[in-house]
Amino acid sequence: MDVLRVVFFGPPGAGKGTQAKLLEQKFGACQVSTGDILRKAARAETPLGKQTSGYLARGDLVPDDVMVKLVAERLKEPDCKAGFILDGFPRTIAQADDLERILKKGGLPLEHALGLKAPNDVLIKRLSGRRTCRNCGAMYHAVFNPPAKDGVCDRCGGELYQREDDREEQIAARLRVYEQQTAPLKDYYRKRRLLREIDGVGTVEEVRKRVFRAVGDGAK
Ligand code: ADP
Ligand code: ADP
Ligand code: ZN
Repeated sequence: MDVLRVVFFGPPGAGKGTQAKLLEQKFGACQVSTGDILRKAARAETPLGKQTSGYLARGDLVPDDVMVKLVAERLKEPDCKAGFILDGFPRTIAQADDLERILKKGGLPLEHALGLKAPNDVLIKRLSGRRTCRNCGAMYHAVFNPPAKDGVCDRCGGELYQREDDREEQIAARLRVYEQQTAPLKDYYRKRRLLREIDGVGTVEEVRKRVFRAVGDGAK
């Protein structure tokens, strides 16, 4: 099976999680969503969760050293050995530098940095209607992608909820954090010839085709 080593970045609501899951289904690679990992840790009240839940609630970034350690550990697990789809990491230049170093050591460099984009009005509509499964992390949308049964996850039967950081005030904070701290990754990856900018406006299926084309799988 084809493998894949990519990162997804882009503003909140661009569709990273949705598209990362579609890539995961298609390729032999693990999807690593740092946001999902942190939300699970917060719910289980683990030491990681206690240390980081305040940042998530405010819409701030968790400190780089915490994130890098977490991702480095995750990438050592057997299911990530050949391929991975990092969803939501890196989010700063410092994280990108550390990732490059980690991957170089393992001899498996990044193939593509997928930058999903969409204008703020689209992002705000998507985020304010987003519903997330408490159990498996699957994403739905109250209008664009509703579950078959109200409030219940199609995949696992889990309860759907609105993330605390998907409320108006936190959305605005997160969009600012993206512009200041994450958008510089575009130049970073452009210089390394890894940047694949993808238009995130359109249906999930339209965007999926662009994503698959960007990773060299246009026919499928
Ligand atoms: P979205 O899907 O809306 O872009 P995520 O689920 O990826 O959001 O992330 C939610 C929150 O988790 C972020 O606002 C931030 O607080 C924290 N987080 C996730 N990934 C990182 C990271 N790589 N660096 C720092 N903080 C992170
Ligand atoms: P991100 O991980 O970048 O924050 P998500 O994949 O969680 O973004 O998508 C944000 C919200 O928008 C979710 O409610 C999702 O169902 C919805 N969504 C994702 N892609 C599209 C699309 N192409 N058109 C309409 N809604 C979408
Ligand atoms: Zn679920």
